[in-house]
Amino acid sequence: MNATSIILDTEFTGLHQDTTLISLALYKDESAWFYAEFNDFDASQLSPWVEQHVIRLLEFSSSTEYLSQDGQRWKIKGNRMVVKQAMAEWLSSFSLVEIWADVLAYDWVLFCELFGGAFGIPENVFYAPFDLATVFRMKGLIVPESRYERDVKRFDYAGITPDHKHHHALEDARAEKICLDKLLGNGFDKELQ
Ligand SMILES: [Mg+2]
Repeated sequence: MNATSIILDTEFTGLHQDTTLISLALYKDESAWFYAEFNDFDASQLSPWVEQHVIRLLEFSSSTEYLSQDGQRWKIKGNRMVVKQAMAEWLSSFSLVEIWADVLAYDWVLFCELFGGAFGIPENVFYAPFDLATVFRMKGLIVPESRYERDVKRFDYAGITPDHKHHHALEDARAEKICLDKLLGNGFDKELQ
């Protein structure tokens, strides 16, 4: 069975283990993506940075419940339970999925927690996620010289213009897919079969 590569990107309230999800995207390509905003994140955790870089980019107001489905392009706003159920339904259209994410420690745990832990994720999702940052490192494009250097600006590497919204989960996931295609070759997901 061939796995479909899906990029996961999340935005959340803080970089600590009690963090809560603000938004989440799953992205295969332009014809198949899932974008969710949560209305039950812990607003007391929000820093000015998160307000400015994440909350400002949200598409729906905090109290809204929303769902649009255009083929495999879904947008939803709701609480964790609502988003989890919709996401499981969206994922069920694939026979087998492998998840890729960028610096994925938080994203993957938060994804699993939506399903009550790693044993609860949908049966068709491979148990281990794969990391874009590790691919950059192995290609010699990330070479640590200090805490944040030398990193790669993902949007620059993807060749995306600056008006794209960094820290909008769907925009980030889209850029990360372009990066993976560039790093591993277009159609890498088929090459890896
Ligand atoms: Mg992001």
